[in-house]
Amino acid sequence: MKLFNTLSEKKEELQRNSGGRFTMYFCGPTVYNYAHIGNFRTYLLQDVLTRILEVDGYNPCVVRNITDVDDKTIRDSMKNNVSLKTFTEKWATIFHEDCSALNVKLPTFEPKAAEHVDEQIAMIEVLVDGGFAYATADGSVYFKISAFPAYGALSNLAHRELQTQEVDSSGKKNLADEYDRESVSDFALWKATKPEDGENFWPSPWGNGRPGWHIECSAMAKKYLGDTIDLHSGGVDLKFPHHENEIAQSECANGKKFSKYWVHMNHLLVDGAKMSKSLGNLYTLADITAMGYSPQCLRYALIAGRYNQQLNFTINNLVAAKNAVEKLQNFFEKISDGSGVQKFEISDWKFFGEAFEALIDDMNTPACLGGIFRLINDIPIEELNGQQRLELHREFSTLMYCLGLPLNDKNENVEIPENIKRLAAERWVAKQSKNFAEADRIRLELLDHGWNVNDSKDTYTVERV
Ligand code: AMP
Ligand code: ZN
Repeated sequence: MKLFNTLSEKKEELQRNSGGRFTMYFCGPTVYNYAHIGNFRTYLLQDVLTRILEVDGYNPCVVRNITDVDDKTIRDSMKNNVSLKTFTEKWATIFHEDCSALNVKLPTFEPKAAEHVDEQIAMIEVLVDGGFAYATADGSVYFKISAFPAYGALSNLAHRELQTQEVDSSGKKNLADEYDRESVSDFALWKATKPEDGENFWPSPWGNGRPGWHIECSAMAKKYLGDTIDLHSGGVDLKFPHHENEIAQSECANGKKFSKYWVHMNHLLVDGAKMSKSLGNLYTLADITAMGYSPQCLRYALIAGRYNQQLNFTINNLVAAKNAVEKLQNFFEKISDGSGVQKFEISDWKFFGEAFEALIDDMNTPACLGGIFRLINDIPIEELNGQQRLELHREFSTLMYCLGLPLNDKNENVEIPENIKRLAAERWVAKQSKNFAEADRIRLELLDHGWNVNDSKDTYTVERV
């Protein structure tokens, strides 16, 4: 599979790790409110990427963290007078329900930042010992950007003519987790506790406090995936400073390259503007379903645009998505047989090869969907023989799996006619007595009737083509 790597600014072939896993880290949600459909665009595209890699034999292993300790979660849990844990667990559950409705797979590991404070402290200690970080008088710790000359490579900082700035000894500056795009300065790894933090602090070698936002991803990526990961992804807004800071922390602490590939999902705009509560254009999944559109329509609308281009979302997108999903469903019913997803080599594709190729060429979802609809509109299904229909069904199901658009299989509980049962039984007897020519002949006869047999060691099953 090829993808545009933000780090090299080139489309590159993803290297397979022979026999091993392809490790990916996705920056996860900050659980203090509903995720909006822009956040979901990013998670959905990451989900499609994972599914394609799975089908293409990369054996992906995904970490998507939960940010349950930062400025916003602490602020809002205190406002609501509940513990940080109770507050963030509630929003994490809602996030999981939305993911499930949108058919976003759970990651292999989903670590929570607040449960990995020890790992974060350990990494900060390594950074301090190595001269990459320093403590201030108030008991905070900062990463020293001037100690990492490669800082800024991902977001092309050198071309933005920005000045680096150290934090003064009072430690007053830049304690915020998210800071101005244009100010590049040493950033907090550990924040000394303040009265506004309430009970939300942990002991550390620098006194009571809590981790900064950026260090959680570096520490949890290392714990679950090792020093070097294959691919790291998030929305474009995370490129700077969050991802630059992750690279700086991990590479200085581990002495190794952090991530080989960086993939950034471009933003969702609504009616041509950035989503915001004040503009009244911020939508959640619940808002969309309340308008009468299914999560599946929303999923389709959000993945139909290219991941590396902005997508302008309007109600028309949902109307178009609804029609498209219905068309896919109708086609599926025509060719349905209930068999599952198969692993394919590209050379095996007979019908939807062009559509799958678009997916593995820089995850071109619109070209993939274009290819699917061209074929659906043109193919004379009635003229296909049994074997061809079986292949058509397998390829279509595989593509729908990659896109995460599950369709209802109306044929799932079909009765098997008696004559078919008899033929299948005769074939099994022929095969058991090693009369393979006869077994093959009956297989073809069954296919002509529209049925396929699958053998396992001790028995067989019959399914509709
Ligand atoms: P947050 O919970 O704010 O950390 O964001 C979760 C993810 O959603 C991050 O990967 C962000 O980059 C991404 N994101 C935020 N806003 C948008 C948007 N409008 N469109 C697409 N992705 C977004
Ligand atoms: Zn991150």
